[in-house]
Amino acid sequence: MHSGKFTKIIATLGPSSSDEKVIKELITSGVNLFRFNLKHADMQWHLEHIKKVREVSGQMGISTGVIVDLQGPECVLIIPEAKELAIEKDGLLKINTDVHFNPPEVYSQLKAGDVLVVDDGKIELEVTGQKEELYLKVVNAGLLKSGKGVSFKGKKISTETISEEEKGKIKEFLKASPDFFALSFVRDHMDVGNLAKFLSDNGSNAGIISKIETQGGIDDLDLIVEESDGIMVARGDLGVEVSLEKITYYQKRIIEKCRASAKPVIVATQMLESMTLNPSPTRAEVSDISNAVRDGADAVMLSGETAIGKYPIESVRFMHKIVSFNEKALRVPAALEFSEDRTFSIVKAAVDIIKSDNGRSLSKILVATETGKTARIFSSFRPEIPIIALTQNEDTLKKLGLSYGVLPNKIEFPEHGLVDVTEIAHVLLERGILSKGENIIVVHGKRWQDPGNTNSLYIFNVN
Ligand code: PEP
Repeated sequence: MHSGKFTKIIATLGPSSSDEKVIKELITSGVNLFRFNLKHADMQWHLEHIKKVREVSGQMGISTGVIVDLQGPECVLIIPEAKELAIEKDGLLKINTDVHFNPPEVYSQLKAGDVLVVDDGKIELEVTGQKEELYLKVVNAGLLKSGKGVSFKGKKISTETISEEEKGKIKEFLKASPDFFALSFVRDHMDVGNLAKFLSDNGSNAGIISKIETQGGIDDLDLIVEESDGIMVARGDLGVEVSLEKITYYQKRIIEKCRASAKPVIVATQMLESMTLNPSPTRAEVSDISNAVRDGADAVMLSGETAIGKYPIESVRFMHKIVSFNEKALRVPAALEFSEDRTFSIVKAAVDIIKSDNGRSLSKILVATETGKTARIFSSFRPEIPIIALTQNEDTLKKLGLSYGVLPNKIEFPEHGLVDVTEIAHVLLERGILSKGENIIVVHGKRWQDPGNTNSLYIFNVN
């Protein structure tokens, strides 16, 4: 978390932001997590730059998360040996010669009359011809870019959750220990389960962010939220899959569901689109980000703005200014209540104390958490003071990096296994996280590493 900001900012890394100095400036300006989109650039590039991000944030002493965004079951259009192709209305592209599909099994499922929508709806193509001789007829002219996602209007294409090629890539990425894998085009909770199984079979507990961008993803939202560590409202493809006028409605519904389940949620795509080319945003973009904060987004994301835009740093600075003003000004209501949950009741009591304190003396929340749940419930109340989440669990530490207002901190267990706040406060004083004289509110269980047994709440004076 950066001073004065509780909402997390995610920046997509790309050619405009790959320089070490730019990465440093992006972190200083408010970036909490970097996203690596596998639909663009090769593995080597991504691995090198994950390393670079880790080195820079290590030198700065600011922890920065890494999200590897997988293609998943999404279909991508590839132009062999070229990055882009200017196409004209009624022009013809030969499938498997001028353009390829990844994964290739898409090809055999196409037939004349199918309509393909490319690059978040910018280009529309129609399949013509027969059997081995299929062409794409250009309905909407434009610049066709290699690596862009394709949707099939009104047609279900069956593909694996992750292709063999992508499985190989994930194994390589695991060596770089990403904090999260984002899964594109989640069709139902089984896609999430398939990725979770593949990760655990390969010894990884990395978080899974499910990108909601298909009708299937919306229809199975409850189970997807349950099985995921975070959700992304991927408005680019969502706007193609359901029609455009519905995306705000779905954004609000998805956020509401995530907040009620205390799972972090990201609002993504075109948040500052005009800043790809201009040094300042439109009023509508400012309003979009402010509304995402008011809806209760944990994180907001930049895509092309930081990856290929002319103003990556300015985009993050604007985003920072907009979220930090609005998270204070537009009081975000607490999430819906969990029923009959003891942890929830203890957290709620702590939040009531903070509210009645009215910002007078309590300056921080300290929460000991094994699975991260207690910290996430705190976050869903949107308290006005930072939540220091203490854990020894590396996976919990990483996953909490996405939650609103949460500052995850690793702490070693004392030999006796009992939580001793005086001891913890001493460590946090040394780390500069707490200061002498502060009054903090502390929530924990009697023993470390005892999930579900949060049973203590009190106010502690740091001295
Ligand atoms: C989106 O579609 O909004 C999105 C975030 O996914 P991608 O950038 O991978 O298309």
